[in-house]
Amino acid sequence: MTMSAAFSQVTTPYGPRYARAVGWRFNTVTTTGVICGLPTFDAYTPPAQCIAPAIVRCDPAAVPGTDHDCGHRLVTELDGLCAYESARRTDSYLWGAARTKASTERGDGDHRVVLHVAAELDTPIRGAALVDPPNTLRAGRLVTLHGWLRHRDAHLAPLIRAQYPFPVTVLDGDDFTAIHNHN
Ligand SMILES: [Zn+2]
Repeated sequence: MTMSAAFSQVTTPYGPRYARAVGWRFNTVTTTGVICGLPTFDAYTPPAQCIAPAIVRCDPAAVPGTDHDCGHRLVTELDGLCAYESARRTDSYLWGAARTKASTERGDGDHRVVLHVAAELDTPIRGAALVDPPNTLRAGRLVTLHGWLRHRDAHLAPLIRAQYPFPVTVLDGDDFTAIHNHN
């Protein structure tokens, strides 16, 4: 796996923290502004659960495991995330892009937020699983730093802000690559 050796300091809703990885992911948003996979009124994901059969399951303190598919995904390059978005893939949960062909055709499941996330120093980090693009990282737990919505989902911003402690920015258009203009 490739990862910067330097720890970076990030600003979380709970104050400054040291992170061993910082990156991006997608999460689906419900029509009531709930971010799937993220408990309301919390910037932290729950600890990742191992999805392997019991006989080969990870030690709960060591999720994600090597040679496993478990862990919360993030990608360190925003461009990689955006390229995935523009490819309109419907066959994968990678980087949190939980979107099935059926939900896309129904028109739901397509409200998504890009989350800027960090894995803190005490969080286990692994490289990509076999099913992932190579620049994927898997983390045991993520803290959310910031959320980004496309203009088409602007109506969800006040609902998300009322239920989560991190800032949410609405982009001028419907292209997530515009996040670059805010950094
Ligand atoms: Zn596992």
